[in-house]
Amino acid sequence: MQPQTHTNSYYAATVNDVTDFAPLLGENSADVCVIGAGFTGISTALHLAERGYNVHVVEANKVGWGASGRNGGQMIGGIAGEENIAKHHGRDVEDVFGELRWAGHKIIRECVQKYRIECDLKFGYLDVAIKKRHLRDLEADYERLLKADFPHEFRLLSKSETQEAIGTDAYVGALLNMGNGHLHPLKMCVGEARAAVSLGTTVYERSPVLHIEHSGRPRVVTQQGSVTADAVVIAGNAYHDLDRKLRGVMFPVHSFIIATEPLSEDIVSTINPMDLAVCDPNFVLQYFRLSADKRLLFGGRINYFGDDPEIIKNNLRRKMLKIYPQLANIGIDYAWGGTIGVPITRVPQLGRVSPNVFYCQGYSGHGVNVTHLMGKILADAVAGTLEQFDLFADVKPFTVPGAHWLSKPMVALGMLYYQMRDRL
Ligand SMILES: Cc1cc2nc3c(=O)[nH]c(=O)nc-3n(C[C@H](O)[C@H](O)[C@H](O)COP(=O)(O)OP(=O)(O)OC[C@H]3O[C@@H](n4cnc5c(N)ncnc54)[C@H](O)[C@@H]3O)c2cc1C
Repeated sequence: MQPQTHTNSYYAATVNDVTDFAPLLGENSADVCVIGAGFTGISTALHLAERGYNVHVVEANKVGWGASGRNGGQMIGGIAGEENIAKHHGRDVEDVFGELRWAGHKIIRECVQKYRIECDLKFGYLDVAIKKRHLRDLEADYERLLKADFPHEFRLLSKSETQEAIGTDAYVGALLNMGNGHLHPLKMCVGEARAAVSLGTTVYERSPVLHIEHSGRPRVVTQQGSVTADAVVIAGNAYHDLDRKLRGVMFPVHSFIIATEPLSEDIVSTINPMDLAVCDPNFVLQYFRLSADKRLLFGGRINYFGDDPEIIKNNLRRKMLKIYPQLANIGIDYAWGGTIGVPITRVPQLGRVSPNVFYCQGYSGHGVNVTHLMGKILADAVAGTLEQFDLFADVKPFTVPGAHWLSKPMVALGMLYYQMRDRL
């Protein structure tokens, strides 16, 4: 496994702080060793560092190299699979998940303020409805927010109000939620890594972990060094192959994003004057928002498993123009993709592979929020408080033998099925 630089994304091109942490060399010792410097790993490290733990983070490539530095930057509320978790525990979903649905947002907001992280954080989010049946779901979400006394502005928008908010007649209505939002994910991830380092954490880049020696004090081994720690956290999500048990329980699904050239003020004032992040309700969904320099970042899935920017551009541009035909003459400056971990049960997977080796993975495209909640839950677990950890860990993952290695045909078939369902 050769270390790689960032993918050629809008985020990598505009990140305000380019990291260059030294690789792991020689024998090292720590309280906790975290594998993977995405949101899960870095958030866990930061929570632990704030509590005084000596943490070493070992990253194969660069901080934020994986999904965390490539995603849509949409801060979505909720946790995929929450009904399954509540059902498993025989509890009411609202009782269990009421506040947890937005706990990650709170962590992000506080972290940005506390460590002064410049990551273009904005609040304002639109769940749009393509069909009448989606409106019923949005109405139910609205009622839920009402009941929960949600502390931020939220309201249902009619078709014409939706068109006014985002300059397209593609949707029949929407739910505006000013508690959700968006950010530059790579700036956020690097900012959090710097915060952890300021509290004594050591970060190694260009250091792929080859294996873990499981024992009383597990040892994390790379080509040129090792870290022996009281506890290890595996945070490689859809990108690692460190333990076979963690592979067949999740499909690695690819998602892609294009970034237009910066748009004129005139266009911005018609297509997104409130600077909202927008997401549709399909399983094979589309999502879009403006960047800080007013590009349209438009994301979605295409039936493709490679990373050729021209193929990504051509496919996603067609989808973007269905929503915004007025952008036909606008250039596309960046096109990239990344891998999302989608558990077969949709429930984020928390657990241990041995007594002191924890893992967390599989957020089904809702990771910006949920990784930050999981960082806290993993830090609690390492410190011995397991209540929230067990909430997730007790729901055993469903395994499909070969799900990882046969992922391309399986994912293609799965997507075909969901595309057909989305059309109903
Ligand atoms: C294109 C795209 C768009 C998305 N859009 C959104 C969105 O808008 N909103 C949202 O909430 N979620 C979104 N997601 C999902 C979200 O990005 C992820 O759920 C989240 O970033 C996962 O974070 P993570 O830290 O668990 O994994 P990652 O960020 O993937 O980090 C894993 C890290 O582990 C490292 N690693 C792997 N193996 C090893 C090893 N052997 N040794 C050392 N290091 C290793 C990798 O290099 C990587 O840096 C999107 C994902 C993609 C791909």
